[in-house]
Amino acid sequence: MSFSFCSLSSGSSGNCQYIETKNAKILVDAGFTGKRVIELLNNIDVDPKEIDAILVTHEHIDHAKGVGILSRKYNIPIYANEKTWIAMEPIIKTVKSENIKIINANKNFEIKDILVHPFNVSHDALDPLGYLLFNEMKKITILTDTGCVNEGIKSKIRGSHLFFIEANHDVEMLRNGSYPIYLKERILSQKGHLSNDACLEILNEVLVGENERVLLAHLSKENNLPQLAYKIIHDGLKRSGYDVDKEVNIYLTNRDNHTEIFHI
Ligand SMILES: [Zn+2]
Ligand SMILES: [Zn+2]
Repeated sequence: MSFSFCSLSSGSSGNCQYIETKNAKILVDAGFTGKRVIELLNNIDVDPKEIDAILVTHEHIDHAKGVGILSRKYNIPIYANEKTWIAMEPIIKTVKSENIKIINANKNFEIKDILVHPFNVSHDALDPLGYLLFNEMKKITILTDTGCVNEGIKSKIRGSHLFFIEANHDVEMLRNGSYPIYLKERILSQKGHLSNDACLEILNEVLVGENERVLLAHLSKENNLPQLAYKIIHDGLKRSGYDVDKEVNIYLTNRDNHTEIFHI
């Protein structure tokens, strides 16, 4: 076993993912109050004191809310790019200078035995990132909050053993739903979020059918239904010839509860 991965919570009300290797314990995003993140960690028997780092994808409140509090309370280094640091400062407030780690897209860095590769995504934040995480021979993709995915990203994420990938909305539900026009347009734009169909399209191009785990992430409460997202992607991959449930396994993430802990 190389990685353990648990989605502590995913959705527009807050995002926090837990990743563990032999030597490292990290979070990707902490978009809840510090108290809630501690609770979420306690639910899977992880002591927040042991967290080695928090990687931040972008400054939106559902990703950054608890980052500062956790860093101050447990002396945790925070990794984000320069623009995200500037944008999230009013949210996370002052943290110890030694815990400010400035990273750059496409420049790898290490957190103990995890090699991290940040890459640019397309979202209405100042400079949002996705992440690839490597340990031993295993690779994890973290890809949420992006309106589109280009060929460059697809080639990076291909070959991952676990995909934490956004299936934010169903286009029809969003179009017919109660959101104001400007918000619908924002979500549907190139700098918005991936729909169920877009997620399927990407997976169709990057999965190789070698026992990958696909975790559907950042599902909208208003504009999606977990079973609908699951069905569109599950059935779509089956139609494309994947041996779904065997070569490729699809899982839902939850807004208010953690997933199982995946060992890869
Ligand atoms: Zn988000
Ligand atoms: Zn966002």
